[in-house]
Amino acid sequence: MKLSQVFTKTHKEAPKDETAISAQLLLRGGFIYKQMAGAYVMLPLGLRVLNKIIAIIREEMEAAGGVELAMTALQPKEPWLASGRWDDKVIDVWFKTQLKNGTEVGLGNTHEEPLTALMREYVSSYRDLPRYTYQFQTKFRNELRAKSGIMRTREFIMKDLYSFSRNQGEHDKFYERMQAAYTTIFQRLGLGDHTYLTFASGGSFAKFSHEFQTVTAAGEDTIYLDKTKKIAINEEVYTDEVVKDLGLKKDDLQKVAAAEVGNIFTLGTKYSDALDLKFTDEDGSVKPVVMGSYGLGPARAMGVIAELMHDDNGIIWPAAVAPADVHLVRLGEADAVVKAADKLYADLESAGKEVIYDDRDESAGAKFADADLIGCPIRLTVSERTLKEHSAELKHRGKDATKLIALDKAATAHLT
Ligand code: ATP
Ligand code: MG
Repeated sequence: MKLSQVFTKTHKEAPKDETAISAQLLLRGGFIYKQMAGAYVMLPLGLRVLNKIIAIIREEMEAAGGVELAMTALQPKEPWLASGRWDDKVIDVWFKTQLKNGTEVGLGNTHEEPLTALMREYVSSYRDLPRYTYQFQTKFRNELRAKSGIMRTREFIMKDLYSFSRNQGEHDKFYERMQAAYTTIFQRLGLGDHTYLTFASGGSFAKFSHEFQTVTAAGEDTIYLDKTKKIAINEEVYTDEVVKDLGLKKDDLQKVAAAEVGNIFTLGTKYSDALDLKFTDEDGSVKPVVMGSYGLGPARAMGVIAELMHDDNGIIWPAAVAPADVHLVRLGEADAVVKAADKLYADLESAGKEVIYDDRDESAGAKFADADLIGCPIRLTVSERTLKEHSAELKHRGKDATKLIALDKAATAHLT
């Protein structure tokens, strides 16, 4: 990616109305554009980060047996009437609209109902189960407040997986598998050390649901955290009894602000009963399917990463989600410099590295400031000075030290 071809620009200042540091840095770095409150455009750099997060989630969902589909965002109201969730009093974040003929439709805020209805077409026997289905899909939620940049928006992509099992035992096994998958995902995203399995309210079929909460002042939730045991209790279910049930001690718990980055939920037969999703078991008896849902917001995770990993100059992306592996800076327009930098760009790409190449005619100060704002893990600089040593200058984001690396090795070296 050549910066001369990217239409976006970085900004020295963040808009006054953005309070979250992640939103400020993402806006300044040219990752996102504010369309309106609660709705952000993913600009080219932001989309790269988001797509890397999505790719990691997809890998872990596939590894757990998930099969991807894409539901529609536009929803008929019938399945929601059947479950009793069409009413705005039951789901207060609904966006609803009408067809030309007056038929009411909804913009999906979640997908339990339509997917359960869909599965009736494909599930009738115990041989059709278990099934694990997921998507990355736009959700619309008319959130009351949208104040944390991309951490809480009114339109966002969610990864939602739904499990369809024959019985509770089969469900429980998969639920644990998903819990492990989420742990792996947050580790891979660089959030592992800050993210805690959190007991939250469970609904009618399980005592608890489980949230993955990342400790950050920008979070809107309050959790009670046992740092040694690495588990937490959401304020909403925090009682003496729950503390005791979980084998925790009140004195060991720290009250902290956190952001919910993921949520796994036992649904039991709530939706299969309501929407008549049944199967004939091996013994001939007809039973409702046992379900679970597993949500994760890639953009919220991206915002949380930016909240936790930055300095005054910009975001410091973990390598796994950085917009590129290497930020290549060319200083000066001299033929020799242009030739050497162009060659290094080509060599890096042939070596399989993703590169942001700053080939613009800008000052060193402006280019280095942009490299910091964009936040790739490695910066390589080619200038007349480094060429005298047949080298490029290597610097790691977040560290001050620089060193020279031979030009003919820079593309293939493990850059540490
Ligand atoms: P919250 O309590 O924060 O409103 P929720 O419990 O309603 O979230 P779920 O329905 O469990 O959210 O959604 C699954 C995941 O989707 C969340 O864990 C979060 O990562 C993400 N998410 C939910 N709401 C939003 C939003 N408004 N903007 C961005 N991501 C969101
Ligand atoms: Mg939730």
